[in-house]
Amino acid sequence: MPGTGKLFVISAPSGAGKTTLIRKVLTRFKNLSYSISHTTRSPRENEKDGIDYFFINQDEFEQKIALDHWLEWAKVHDNFYGTSKSFIKNSLGKGQSLILDIDVQGAGQIMALGLDIVSIFIMPPSFEILSQRLEKRGTDTKEVIARRLENAKSEIACKDLFQYVVVNDNLDKATEELCLIFKKEMA
Ligand code: 5GP
Repeated sequence: MPGTGKLFVISAPSGAGKTTLIRKVLTRFKNLSYSISHTTRSPRENEKDGIDYFFINQDEFEQKIALDHWLEWAKVHDNFYGTSKSFIKNSLGKGQSLILDIDVQGAGQIMALGLDIVSIFIMPPSFEILSQRLEKRGTDTKEVIARRLENAKSEIACKDLFQYVVVNDNLDKATEELCLIFKKEMA
């Protein structure tokens, strides 16, 4: 992939605090932005098309699979998610580094491409805390939460595939740890 920007691939089980951590890191570095994924899931309250995700339907998603549009894609919790090759290429070409907030299947696909990436896994402090956080968030139904917890087990089992593992037991501490990684890798 041409360009001078760097790709940071971050994965975590849903509810590990990844989104909050990523937002904090993004405010600290100028040449770093967020890779906006495409998804077939419905927008949550407060989510905006073109900011949080590009929301598309399943037909469009599948057409783009056929057209080799995705750098990686995966079905997560019954919805499709994908990273557009052209989005990444354009950003890196402008010297922008990018954070890809993607699941472990997508992270594995990108690792297999042999690109120069930095991979980071965010760990929740415990399974109990993860479960409490998902319930407190109040954005998902009981069934969705149960499915997300089930997926969390298999995602955590993949953590050793990542170059860095950051445990989010304390938000400030995890933010500092994460920022040190970005500082070192972008130097
Ligand atoms: P949510 O629906 O909670 O926003 O995201 C669910 C999961 O999908 C999260 O683990 C998130 O990292 C992952 N995800 C978001 N965008 C992408 C993407 O483009 N590709 C892949 N493989 N996973 C994604």
